[in-house]
Amino acid sequence: MNGARGRARREGVIFDRSSPGRVGYQLPPLEVPPADVRQTLAGVALRGEIEELPEVSEVDVLRHFHRLSQLNYSVDEGLYPLGSCTMKYNPRLNEELARLPGLAQLHPLQPEEQVQGALELMWELEQALVAITGMARVTLQPAAGAHGELTGMLMVRAACRDRNSPRSTVLIPDSAHGTNPATAVFAGFKVVEIASTSAGTLDLHALARHLEGGDVAALMVTVPNTLGVFEPEIARAAAMLHERGAFLYIDGANLNAFVGIAQPGAMGADVMHINLHKTFSTPHGGGGPGAGPVAVSQALVEYLPVPLVERTGDRWTLSYHRPKSIGKVRGFYGNFGMLVRALAYIRSLGRDGLKAMAEGAVLNANYIRKGLEEDYHLPYPGASLHEVVFDDSRQLAHGVKNVDIAKRLLDYGFHPPTMSFPLIVHGALMIEPTESDGVEELDAFIAAMRQIARECRENPELVRGAPYTTPVRRLDEVRAARSPILRWRRSSR
Ligand SMILES: *Cc1c(COP(=O)(O)O)cnc(C)c1O
Repeated sequence: MNGARGRARREGVIFDRSSPGRVGYQLPPLEVPPADVRQTLAGVALRGEIEELPEVSEVDVLRHFHRLSQLNYSVDEGLYPLGSCTMKYNPRLNEELARLPGLAQLHPLQPEEQVQGALELMWELEQALVAITGMARVTLQPAAGAHGELTGMLMVRAACRDRNSPRSTVLIPDSAHGTNPATAVFAGFKVVEIASTSAGTLDLHALARHLEGGDVAALMVTVPNTLGVFEPEIARAAAMLHERGAFLYIDGANLNAFVGIAQPGAMGADVMHINLHKTFSTPHGGGGPGAGPVAVSQALVEYLPVPLVERTGDRWTLSYHRPKSIGKVRGFYGNFGMLVRALAYIRSLGRDGLKAMAEGAVLNANYIRKGLEEDYHLPYPGASLHEVVFDDSRQLAHGVKNVDIAKRLLDYGFHPPTMSFPLIVHGALMIEPTESDGVEELDAFIAAMRQIARECRENPELVRGAPYTTPVRRLDEVRAARSPILRWRRSSR
């Protein structure tokens, strides 16, 4: 924990530091007569004077923003155990490569002949993702997982129409991430929820029942699912869907659990998105940037967005001539910098390294599970893969909820786990350490969580009042979301 001048201190807004007449840097006086911009811009793009711009020195600005940056918790600081998000360490090598001027300063409208290296890089990334997933082809365009889902479901819709078999239903297990039903609805489908089995897995009997009507376009399922549990009957489910002319959409956000170990293509997936920013280490959080490439089986290749990168001998081209394509889903070619980072990660680890990464992620999650299972209740006690879901039922007996535990963790210097998700677990605490952390950090986290469990038993009031060491205590989160104050005004001081 930082000292009195560190994290515990509240940093005001920069306007509060303003002092009339103070400047950071002043341009020298003009040596030529000034142009009358009022005339050239003809009032179109000209705004009036900005009132009360803060008057501060350069060092004021620097320190203000530096101090604010110190209030952020990040994966560079310590364990970031958000489940489902896969907050892993981002090797600095990726950053170096993404910033190489030859890559970072490309213009998306440069002609193909000038960007052969970039096209080759995209081609190589596609090949790597094809090898990892066992699917036929990949589009790199989508900007996030949710965007990849939409792209995938638009392809499913196009394929159903093309087969003269328009269907309106998408099946989604009740353990699903919220983006799945949102995507299905956005793509024009109706969602039917399937209740999970008592083991937290896909219920094949329910699946068979829902398939009877012949209106199912696809099943969207996360593998391993959001309880961190592998779907042991996924191949059987795929066969059942295919028999009925329906598609299997695998939400690949949890690919971190089995890269190099199993292939979604072999499980029978027709389409899946890959969160490069989760599995392949590119930085994420705070809304982006991300990249959500979509891999498809042969059945959906012709519907992929344009353009695709094609190789002819030593030349790479962008192919737009794909008559059944769903079209473009994003400007230009996707978040290119994220593609560079992901390929750097994949190439620097290699086949064996990627497999070791998945094994490390599973090992770490199970290490935490073992360390905490005496103190926290496991609602689904089947084998965990890369994340483990506890609930707060034991702590609730002392009047302490999962959110109280999360706030108390802040006092111990950790980012909390994912809260209250998946929805089928009441009071969920979903922990995903990833492969990034060593045993010392895991032990420190386990010790903090066990100490909190002890506090829940012996002094629940203490936990309910947390956090105590942060710049702000508990926020009224509803009010902060519903009536946020986004603009500084002198009167609001
Ligand atoms: C993160 C996640 C998504 C959405 O991905 P974004 O890149 O955040 O849009 C979808 N499904 C699951 C299971 C996820 O964990």
